[in-house]
Amino acid sequence: MNEDTIFEKILKGEIPAHKVYENEYTFAFLDIAPINKGHTLVIPKLPTRNILSVDQKTFGHVMETVRFLAPKIKEATGADGINIGINNEPAAGQVVFHLHVHIMPRFIGDGKKLWPGKEYLAGEADIVLNSIKKLL
Ligand code: AMP
Repeated sequence: MNEDTIFEKILKGEIPAHKVYENEYTFAFLDIAPINKGHTLVIPKLPTRNILSVDQKTFGHVMETVRFLAPKIKEATGADGINIGINNEPAAGQVVFHLHVHIMPRFIGDGKKLWPGKEYLAGEADIVLNSIKKLL
């Protein structure tokens, strides 16, 4: 299911990448089309589609690498802030089906917008809350 994504090819060294960092479980490299310079992707070495199927340990390793790198990327780029993002499934913008966390340097006035917020109509928050809580 997850074989032969472009990120597997990067892990195997079949296509080049600007490697930022690597440890036993994770690999980090510059995004080829950065939101700002220094935009980095952190991936698990184990092929895993996204957060909807990743196991707890693998995700823990990925997020530990994100935690380790984020302040260093902020300092190195002179960014004012950092967005952390994961797109899961096409409806959420996922294009490469190997879990990856975006570390995105942000600058005051860089013009990038966060997603717009909607409003709940009366009762809608409780309905969705109950649906979520039933599964916990
Ligand atoms: P997503 O929409 O979350 O699946 O994001 C995929 C990301 O992978 C995009 O931001 C792309 O710019 C990035 N990307 C695709 N191919 C490469 C590559 N060969 N090297 C580095 N980043 C890539």
